[in-house]
Amino acid sequence: MTFASLGLSDALTRAVAGLGYDEPTPVQRATIPVVLRGGDVWASAKTGSGKTAAFLLPILEALRARPGGSVRPVRAFILVPTRELAAQIVDSIQRYGQHLKKPLKTCIAVGGVSANPQMLALRGGADIVVATPGRALDLVHQNALRLDQVETLVLDEADRLFSLGFADELNSLLALLPTRRQNLLFSATFPPAVRKFAEQLLHEPTRIDV
Ligand code: AMP
Repeated sequence: MTFASLGLSDALTRAVAGLGYDEPTPVQRATIPVVLRGGDVWASAKTGSGKTAAFLLPILEALRARPGGSVRPVRAFILVPTRELAAQIVDSIQRYGQHLKKPLKTCIAVGGVSANPQMLALRGGADIVVATPGRALDLVHQNALRLDQVETLVLDEADRLFSLGFADELNSLLALLPTRRQNLLFSATFPPAVRKFAEQLLHEPTRIDV
């Protein structure tokens, strides 16, 4: 099994080869084709499984295949529980996207640091935003972030999003997204609140348990 056989194009397969990824991990094998065909995903996946590339690679592929115009509305919105995880994901996007002909613009929106640089970076649009829920909502309220063109929503480490008390912010953010969109939910565990949330959020999801 190769990354190319999962449907990823040359720029992305070269990037992962350059990082020393010999073959896709089980969660990548199961997830990448589903995301590429636009389906929702309900994945039980822990850190270390390769879950980040499982959602990033097909998102980059889709964004690459359908370049945005000059306006650059946010098309992929990735919500995570901590700013460290957000920074890691932004880093992975740069590494996986390094050979793309048209570079994608990624912005970070996380709490605990000044909002001003994030607001400045968001001016002129972004293809991808990686955020923690509280700061994302703040930036929406300040008119610095618009979510009405989001095509794909990712919730990474959903159980931690809930255990850190982000449920209200999550629901406020979901209300700002277009109703027709792709939803990808990754969680190491599924306590009842997360399960209920996943059932409401996901539309005919493919369940991936590796
Ligand atoms: P994650 O589970 O997304 O936190 O990824 C865990 C680690 O595995 C990261 O350091 C990735 O760079 C690495 N990784 C992801 N996919 C692969 C792969 N297919 N082959 C080798 N390493 C990988």
